[in-house]
Amino acid sequence: MANMTTTDRSPLEMLSTPVQYLKGVGPQRAELLHRLGLKTVKDLLFYFPRDYQDLTDQRDIPQLEEGKLQSVLGVVEEVELRSRRSSGCVLGVLIRARGGHLRALWFDQPYMRDKFTVGQRVLVSGKPRYRGLVWEMAHPRVQTVEDEQPDSTAKILPVYPLTEGLEQWHLRRIIRTAVEQYAPVLEEVFPAEYRQAHDLWPIRQALPQVHFPDDRESLAKARRRFVYQELLILQLALAIKRQQTQLRQAPVLEATALIDSRIRRLFPFELTAAQNQAIAEIAADMGRAVPMNRLLQGDVGSGKTVVAVYAMLLAVAHRHQAALMAPTEVLARQHYLTLGKLLANSRVRLALLTGGLTGSQRRQLLEQIAAGQMDIVVGTQAVIQEDVQFARLGLVVIDEQHKFGVRQRATLKKAGPDPHYLVMTATPIPRTVALTQFGDFEISTLRQSPPGRQRVYTYLLGEADRERWWEFFRKKLRQGRQGYVVAPVIEESDTAEFASLEQVYESLANGPLEEFRLGLLHGRLSPPEKDAVMEDFRAGRIQTLVCTSVIEVGVDVPNATLMVIEGGQRFGLAQLHQLRGRISRGGFPGYCAVFANAESEEAQQRLQAFQSTTDGFQLAEIDFRLRGPGELFGARQHGMPPLRVADLLRDADVLEEARRDAQALVESDPGLAKPEHYLLRRMMLNRYGQALELADVG
Ligand code: ADP
Ligand code: MG
Repeated sequence: MANMTTTDRSPLEMLSTPVQYLKGVGPQRAELLHRLGLKTVKDLLFYFPRDYQDLTDQRDIPQLEEGKLQSVLGVVEEVELRSRRSSGCVLGVLIRARGGHLRALWFDQPYMRDKFTVGQRVLVSGKPRYRGLVWEMAHPRVQTVEDEQPDSTAKILPVYPLTEGLEQWHLRRIIRTAVEQYAPVLEEVFPAEYRQAHDLWPIRQALPQVHFPDDRESLAKARRRFVYQELLILQLALAIKRQQTQLRQAPVLEATALIDSRIRRLFPFELTAAQNQAIAEIAADMGRAVPMNRLLQGDVGSGKTVVAVYAMLLAVAHRHQAALMAPTEVLARQHYLTLGKLLANSRVRLALLTGGLTGSQRRQLLEQIAAGQMDIVVGTQAVIQEDVQFARLGLVVIDEQHKFGVRQRATLKKAGPDPHYLVMTATPIPRTVALTQFGDFEISTLRQSPPGRQRVYTYLLGEADRERWWEFFRKKLRQGRQGYVVAPVIEESDTAEFASLEQVYESLANGPLEEFRLGLLHGRLSPPEKDAVMEDFRAGRIQTLVCTSVIEVGVDVPNATLMVIEGGQRFGLAQLHQLRGRISRGGFPGYCAVFANAESEEAQQRLQAFQSTTDGFQLAEIDFRLRGPGELFGARQHGMPPLRVADLLRDADVLEEARRDAQALVESDPGLAKPEHYLLRRMMLNRYGQALELADVG
């Protein structure tokens, strides 16, 4: 039922129609749509709902059953917030529905109060309980229902992300018009047999149903088609990327028995089984003539550095250079010191490139590196990427990858064959994320910690506990331990309610810690100043370091076992865990106190999770659930376009399926050169060609 007036235009032209030419839009609304990034009809068609209001499962009050998930449509009659005698508060919202009343309850979530007004129409979903006179639902899901659908029963309505001035009902109407008029001209990317074999609805059927589903089943089918398509395109791109990597050349850097024993002699401890396993995997990769592309993940303190050192020495043993890039100057310098100690009795030539060098020192170093007179170069990623020309670069190690984009790796200056790449991260990566954001990497995992680690005790404390906590802190300092006090901001101008870093420092120096030597570390200090502070701390001249999260990653001072985190609600879970990782490094137990003012439910859950476990893998899973993969492994950080339809938590099965199918497709048609795969290839290159640096094949 293509629109008669438009049949003389090609589908592509029709889909590129600007939104303002659509019925019911006009210039003013077009402006609002533009704000959402919606310029053309095609943009509208693929602006998928972020959620749905499922009004199909409603009950009147007399039909409610205990313990089953049900929805009730009604009007807010009364909103009451009361404090409880024990502690906390309870919010009760009385809802009048057909056949009676329902009371919705929230415990200790006073901020929910502002979400309700008397007279508002709402749909609440949850498991009801009968309490004598009235039905109750604790912590139900609530949706506001617009008047547009006065008695809407048995309907699933789309919920779109909005912008100010644009209402839900209006956007629904606009998208409905676009769908009715233009869905019939959409091009199908899948060959017909492929669709049938993989249980995929045609796009012209799926698109209308993804916006305005007839029922849950149709919605599931329609969604499946788009989720599958999105994940297949991504997996095709990754599969082709792997294929193309296999065609590149890298030096063969084999770990012979002699080399292996020479390297191991340098280590002052026995490697753990996990470290040996990772080393075996890395050595196998580096022994091949194609570039290694490997991610080493291991919890904080699991001992990733020696694994990296092994790999670097392997390169050096074959007369190649290695570069070690750290996210901060503090970390670069620490790596340099660690390496310096390990290599004190070897002939390995080690260079540190930081912002603190004078112009001539720097020039000289760069010349030596370019002439092949330096074996291992340590520095921040920014510095190494910007100016260093290597003579024979064999390996690049990127430490604490989550701090910056892995995909910037290709911009390194290099001559000759590609180097091998090893990327290290202390943020464990859930499998679904590994298969998407890092799908072109091989992965090694350190799950075990070196022996002799003591546990870290974590306390969520309130203002009333401060005095007792500082008492304890002083006792430990007198026993010779050291500590960190971490605060989230350094500027006075920050309007946040907690004190700035300098204020924290002043109040400690003139208060609970006045008899101790304190230091101050933050991102505003110059590199030499930072080095000096860290050096004093390492040497014990500073007993407590007041700092921002600059110490978050990697800093290794085993005698520091105390930590205070101020404004804990300001930190993400991965960040908190990284911070705490600083105090679990030596032979003494660690003590971490978090002072927080958790204003949201999410912050509360985050802090509870942080207190409940020190297992980074477990915390990563929780974080993933609380915030979603988009936040945790943001596309911004990794340079991969975000997923628009698929949800890695919900759609893990489809992901595995798409991955298998993509591999099979690329094996049967390398480069996707067959005509029936032309559209798939085009979509793949459009979306991922740049991010993954795919050469256009065929
Ligand atoms: P991370 O994985 O967080 O980068 P590091 O490499 O900094 O961890 O190691 C943490 C600490 O554990 C360091 O002090 C390091 O010397 C020590 N370490 C590493 N491997 C071992 C081992 N096999 N046995 C004993 N100590 C080790
Ligand atoms: Mg480290």
